[in-house]
Amino acid sequence: MEKALAVFQSIAAELLADEKVNPVVDYIPADQLFDKLDLSLVDQPIDDETHLKKLKELVMATPRTATNAFFNQLYGGRNEKAVLGELLAVLMNNSMYTFKAAGAQVGVEKAVLRKVCEIIGWDEKSDGTFATGGSMTNFMSMLMARDAYNGKVRFDGVQQKMTVYTSIESHYSIPKNASFSGIGRNNVRYIPVNKVGEMNPVELDKAIAKDLADGFHPVMVNSTAGTTVLGAFDNVEEISVVCKKHNVWMHVDGAYCGSVIFSKKYKHHLKGLENVDSFSFNAHKMIGTPLTCSIIVVKDKQNLRNSFANDAEYLYQTDEDDFNPGKTSLQCGRRNDALKFWTFWKSVGTQGLEKMVDHQFSLADTAREYVRNHPDYELFSFDDSIAVCFKYKNIPSQELCTKLYEKAELMVSFGSFQEDEFVRFVTINAQNSHDDILLFFKRLEEFVAEYYGELKESDFVWEEC
Ligand SMILES: *Cc1c(COP(=O)(O)O)cnc(C)c1O
Repeated sequence: MEKALAVFQSIAAELLADEKVNPVVDYIPADQLFDKLDLSLVDQPIDDETHLKKLKELVMATPRTATNAFFNQLYGGRNEKAVLGELLAVLMNNSMYTFKAAGAQVGVEKAVLRKVCEIIGWDEKSDGTFATGGSMTNFMSMLMARDAYNGKVRFDGVQQKMTVYTSIESHYSIPKNASFSGIGRNNVRYIPVNKVGEMNPVELDKAIAKDLADGFHPVMVNSTAGTTVLGAFDNVEEISVVCKKHNVWMHVDGAYCGSVIFSKKYKHHLKGLENVDSFSFNAHKMIGTPLTCSIIVVKDKQNLRNSFANDAEYLYQTDEDDFNPGKTSLQCGRRNDALKFWTFWKSVGTQGLEKMVDHQFSLADTAREYVRNHPDYELFSFDDSIAVCFKYKNIPSQELCTKLYEKAELMVSFGSFQEDEFVRFVTINAQNSHDDILLFFKRLEEFVAEYYGELKESDFVWEEC
């Protein structure tokens, strides 16, 4: 093992050094991938030296997500304390189903979950678990909502016309999970949003009332904390009143921006969170832990048991149920995703998490200010969001983002809201400084000047087709 760790160190050193000079890796078109890299698996073994060479080639050719040029997704950066925790988790290799197999690591997981519940304002009845991503924590919430509505579904299957509600700006995992859960994609009701992308609670109320009158069975409302494109926060307080009125399970999908719970300044976006039934967030997004670190907490832990416990004598041979987290999990074997979050949290304290969240909003303020003050830009997003959406010189955003990627300049993506398409610049990498944000715009402008030559705005009229 010592040798493998030394090899790891040598590859890591090379990568870190190269990232400083080449923040974006050279573009390899998908159809050339297998020609450019030796990925083939053959019958004969190879010697360690060749093996190391192949590994290095692969690592050096892989897209870089930790640099100050990666703004493509809702994660980024490299949090050294969290990486340390993750490396230790790999080394120890505990599966998180039983106390017998994971021991002290069950305590780590419980400490994280307990603290999150406490911050929300929930008592000892609450609990939670980790899953393999925000899509899966959303799935767990839908299953619990379904089973809480009708406990027989687990045995007999879905026999009622169940419906779920989410905004048109919410994540695509909601319809996907409706198909998995037996509720069905066609029974997802998409609620309209206001002009800043937040679900309209009045429309929600009407949609539920109409379904009830038509003989449907509303089982869950999904509210989003940080919509994927605009980073908008649905109004938890107003939506929870509608849910109470109709007695429907309320979930808050905070995969993207749910971590605002750690910030005194921004937690008002989730005002009323203590009233919901379940809440999920991804520590691999705003908290910057390595992928994946997805948490779901529920106000009443009995719901986790009801939906996910299964007797398995070969597995659960000792200890109290409370220390056998397999009984509240979607999975059987489960990797230790809590340790990386705990390692970071232990180091910086809750104040450190707060600083990190605040810093991301402050980076977004810098970006918005820049866009507002420069006439070649048009801003499409709103204050208090870490997604800064804009157009530059009216260049079609999809084309601009693709060119920046292919020329290995910047990784940034595009999005759309209602009629508009724009660049979606996400300030989620907390290792970035305000200068890194300004550098992004400088690189973008230099690239456009070089690539497009002397552009006049009128040269680019977006053609609707
Ligand atoms: C990212 C995201 C998800 C999905 O999370 P994964 O971990 O990628 O599965 C769900 N909802 C929202 C709002 C997200 O931003």
